[in-house]
Amino acid sequence: MHDSAIESKKRIRILDVPVDAVSRAEAAAVLDALLRTEGCSLIATPNSEILWNAAKDAGLKAILDGADLVIPDGIGLVYASRIIGSPLSERVTGIDFLDAALCRLADAGESVYLLGGAPGVAEKAAERMRARYPALRVAGVCHGYYKPEEEAAIVEEINESGAAFLCAALGSPKQERFIHAHREALRVRAAIGVGGSLDIWAGVQKRAPAFLRERGLEWLYRLARQPARIKRVAVLPLFMLRVLAAGKPRRR
Ligand code: UDP
Repeated sequence: MHDSAIESKKRIRILDVPVDAVSRAEAAAVLDALLRTEGCSLIATPNSEILWNAAKDAGLKAILDGADLVIPDGIGLVYASRIIGSPLSERVTGIDFLDAALCRLADAGESVYLLGGAPGVAEKAAERMRARYPALRVAGVCHGYYKPEEEAAIVEEINESGAAFLCAALGSPKQERFIHAHREALRVRAAIGVGGSLDIWAGVQKRAPAFLRERGLEWLYRLARQPARIKRVAVLPLFMLRVLAAGKPRRR
């Protein structure tokens, strides 16, 4: 089945990694279309760090190439898109997109399965999601620290739950690999990789205050709260330099 929201979305490439040039509203329209489409659609939410990793990891890049929706979850992607002359209209964060998805699922009477986070986190996130969207059905939850040999049973449990939407908050690239590896077997309509979103829903981690988010400084807030992220944040200047180098006109 084809849908105009899916067909009309424009895909750009940053360091040869795909990113969809969608606004928040367009991303939500694509989600509506994907939820009406047969098969398990894959939704990725790369920030600069994930994009940088995908540029160096052909396997991860191929997974993103095969994704149905790749939303630009980071101010670094917005800057990079301007440098390469294909400006993204706005940053669409995974956490905001997930919120829009939950709201839609609640309205439609569909259910979500929550996978990821430390034991107890998904349960707490489910409780808070239900408090916010009383009509939302959380069909099941599972923490993200399972053994590889338990994966097949988890896929079975997701399918048996009857969920229409899978929220895989396992961190990247584990979440993208999980969805990709089980895409054929999964009976959900769409699955999203959303990093630490369940930690935020559960209240284990806090979101940056709005004034920092509006200025594209969420990464700085997270660094201040979790100094161990410094190694991850350190790839940002490398990423921007590589984009600048790739984007500058060639000398004759
Ligand atoms: N996580 C998990 N299983 C793992 C490794 C990580 O469920 O094997 C979870 C972890 O508990 C955290 C999330 O994945 O909730 C990763 O969060 P991170 O802050 O790295 O993601 P980001 O939001 O930066 O993409």
